[in-house]
Amino acid sequence: MNAPSSPLLVVHGGAWEIPPQDHPAHIAGCRQAAEAGWAILARGGPALEAVEAAVRQMEDDPTFDAGRGSFLNTAGEVELDAIIMDGSTLNLGAVAAVQHIQHPVSLARLVMTESAHAFLAGRGAEAFARAHGVPECPPDALLVGRELKRWHDLQAGAGPQPADYFHPADTVGAVALDRAGNLAAATSTGGTPNKLPGRVGDSPLVGSGAYADNRSAAVSATGVGEALMKVVISKTACDLVERGATPQEAADAVIATLAERTGGYGGVIVVDPLGRYGIAHNTSYIAHAVVSAGGHVEVGIRRR
Ligand code: ASP
Repeated sequence: MNAPSSPLLVVHGGAWEIPPQDHPAHIAGCRQAAEAGWAILARGGPALEAVEAAVRQMEDDPTFDAGRGSFLNTAGEVELDAIIMDGSTLNLGAVAAVQHIQHPVSLARLVMTESAHAFLAGRGAEAFARAHGVPECPPDALLVGRELKRWHDLQAGAGPQPADYFHPADTVGAVALDRAGNLAAATSTGGTPNKLPGRVGDSPLVGSGAYADNRSAAVSATGVGEALMKVVISKTACDLVERGATPQEAADAVIATLAERTGGYGGVIVVDPLGRYGIAHNTSYIAHAVVSAGGHVEVGIRRR
């Protein structure tokens, strides 16, 4: 039995050149997610439940590239990836390339608890969802006008657009420490705009999009999936914490490695069992919120 801990929750709502006019929605969305997760931690609930609740909130928020509001693939479809991991058991559940699912993070949790597997993809994951009473949502429940316009613009071939119009990265994630001293992490995404059907990024890959181990840390990542997966960024951050780095040192180190080894962009959030956290990114901004003892929420768009 671990000694009682002071709970801590960190969420992110993507790391990229978030346009200034979108900052208020990102801040509000991160705050709501943080509050949803904190409501569970504050009553002594498990970190696993807290990260699921925080991510579900962001999946419902059309601001982010997760659940409702996700980017469309080249075929004009929403395909979703998510992972959740319990640091006390190393149990994890993940889903990839699923359609018509409002809360992929909860489907990932069902894969963890109700199947003999850890990772289900595509039609098989959708059949598993149906078999477990997860309702299919209509395409309109996930599609927003902003993304339909972006898709039409992409099919039409660019035109005059702000620099990052075609390269947003609004994946969401949460990491938490609960009162029992357990860690958990979750990440959910619609991937990248105009991805090929079937493309899967880092987000649902254990050790890349997220990792949680009570012996080291809980981590969630965002950014260019093809780069993040090369350096197995979340597990690498956990390993650094296990070897003595603070969460901030580990976060800084893995982002430096990401840049140096792949030239890619991204951000990570890290929480350790001592109740310390780190946030690092090599993008212009990362949208995030931190809730610590007493429920004090620090929320913002951190600039590099
Ligand atoms: N990492 C995600 C992916 O490549 C995108 C993001 O973080 O926004 O699918």
